[in-house]
Amino acid sequence: MSSSTVDLHSHSTCSDGGHAPSFVVELAAQRGIEVLALTDHDTLQGIAEAQATGAEHGVHVVAGIELSAKYSAGQCHLLAWLPSPVPQAFHVWTTSREVDREQRAKEMVRRLNEQGFEIAWEDVRARAAGNLGRPHVADTLIAAGHCTDRRDAFERLIGRGCHAYVGSGKIAPEAAVEQAVAAGALVSLAHPYTLELEGQPLSDFVGRLADAGLGALEAHRGDQDAARQAEYCDLAERHGLLVSAGSDFHSVELEDGPRGQRELGWTGDPGLSPEAREQLLSRLPGVPANLVR
Ligand code: AMP
Ligand code: FE
Ligand code: FE
Ligand code: ZN
Repeated sequence: MSSSTVDLHSHSTCSDGGHAPSFVVELAAQRGIEVLALTDHDTLQGIAEAQATGAEHGVHVVAGIELSAKYSAGQCHLLAWLPSPVPQAFHVWTTSREVDREQRAKEMVRRLNEQGFEIAWEDVRARAAGNLGRPHVADTLIAAGHCTDRRDAFERLIGRGCHAYVGSGKIAPEAAVEQAVAAGALVSLAHPYTLELEGQPLSDFVGRLADAGLGALEAHRGDQDAARQAEYCDLAERHGLLVSAGSDFHSVELEDGPRGQRELGWTGDPGLSPEAREQLLSRLPGVPANLVR
């Protein structure tokens, strides 16, 4: 079992994570993570704080973002790792992603109210320190007594296929990749299984994104078993892509025990091989040479 010191997928209170960026980075330092990317949903708000804490604690923090792209069958999330400082034009572009998320959450509240689930937009907004997501809507529903827990909220009211579900991402996957690549980013397809594609259709989709400039696939995650990881490594190789590793950490409360899923720093078994780690880090913008090997 490998314990990689690279985790390129994590969240903070700047989107739907449970902890401030500084806390996430301190935890990464405690766990011996050398290279961490903070990748909040559609926002770069936490990067400055995370990098300042990283500088204090000896963690190299990559400026990252998890972009939601328009995709009807499942979820298409793209991790973009950017040069630091992040090019101004990209920074400005992300603010339009933040506005899209506000509008989407408002529409969800409208639909919930229409169905008799009374919650106030202001309560949802107040739950989010940063960028809004469905977990904030779920928590508001729970507080109002309409749902027992987040799972219940997603299953009955705000998950895909439910009346109040509104898809996130107004931008096509190829366009999102191109925007990030134009800013000098390395882009990876996060949790490919959420596309709900297998075999040739999955390969075709990945091929289209590769043509648009996709650089990697998130083959290594705590919630992907060895067979899945091998399958995605093959797929990446066929399209000339790197493989990346990430925990998709959201909060210590949601880590289901040591070596469980979404534990900061845990990117599955077998995780990144030493060769793949070196290839990945040498292509990531701004990683110091001493950390690459
Ligand atoms: P959004 O990006 O606003 O669509 O919200 C997606 C986020 O909701 C994911 O990143 C998870 O943090 C969370 N999530 C998705 N599905 C569930 C679920 N069934 N139960 C609890 N949280 C979920
Ligand atoms: Fe999330
Ligand atoms: Fe995601
Ligand atoms: Zn994520």
